[in-house]
Amino acid sequence: MGFDELKRDLITKLKRHGIKRDVLDALEKVPREHFVPEEEKRYAYHDTPLSIGMGQTISAPHMVAIMCNLLEIEKGMTILEVGTGSGYHAAVMAELTGEEGHVYTVECNEELAQNAIENLKKTKYTNITVITGDGSEGLKEHAPYDRISVAAAAPEIPPPLIDQLKEGGRMVIPIGREYQELYLVTKNHKTRIEKKCGVAFVPLRGRYGQKIC
Ligand code: SAH
Repeated sequence: MGFDELKRDLITKLKRHGIKRDVLDALEKVPREHFVPEEEKRYAYHDTPLSIGMGQTISAPHMVAIMCNLLEIEKGMTILEVGTGSGYHAAVMAELTGEEGHVYTVECNEELAQNAIENLKKTKYTNITVITGDGSEGLKEHAPYDRISVAAAAPEIPPPLIDQLKEGGRMVIPIGREYQELYLVTKNHKTRIEKKCGVAFVPLRGRYGQKIC
C-alpha cells in the first residue's frame, strides 16, 4: 500500500473516534512521512509515536487529532506550540489556521529545531515560525495567543502560558510525571481547567518544566 492509501485508512479510523471534519481534513493534507527519519518512514501512518532522535518522539496522529479537536482552531488564529519536535503537529495546526493565521513553535533542542525547519521548508509551510528556546516561559514577543498547544508534560500549568493566552483563548497541556493527564484550559474572567484523558508525553524541560536530575 502507498502512503496515500495508508493515510486514508488512518483517517477513517480517527473519524470513528469523533474527530471533527476540519481536523481530519488537516491531517489528510500533511504528509507525516516527511516529518519522520528515513528508517521510520514505513511506519509513518501507524497510529503510534515514532522516534525522531535525541530521545524525543513525534506524537501519534490520534493524539495530535485529539489536541486539535479540543483547541477548536479557526482560520486566522495566532497559535503558540511548546515542543516543536519534528514540526508535524505545527503543520497540522497551520492547516487549521490557514494562510491568514500563524503558528509560532518553540523547541529547546537546537538540532531538533533545525530538523523541523528543514521538514517545514520541504513541505512548504510559510505560516509557521520555529524558535529555539525555553517554551515553558511561552513566547512573549508574539503574545497574546488565541490557542496554545503544549506537547511535553509539565509538573503544573506554567503561569506565563496562562498570561500569554487571550481572553476566551484555549490551551491544551499534559500535566504529570509518570502518570499524566491532558488538560483543557479556557481563559475567561474565571479560567476553567478541565481534565480530559490519560496521556504519555516526554517531560517538559526548562524553567517551568520537570526537575530532572
Ligand atoms: N509536537 C511534536 C512532538 C513533540 S515531542 C511533533 O509533532 O513532532 C516534545 C518536544 O518538546 C521535544 O522535541 C522536546 O525537545 C521539546 N521540549 C521539551 N521541553 C521544552 C521546553 N521547555 N521548551 C521547548 N521545547 C521543549
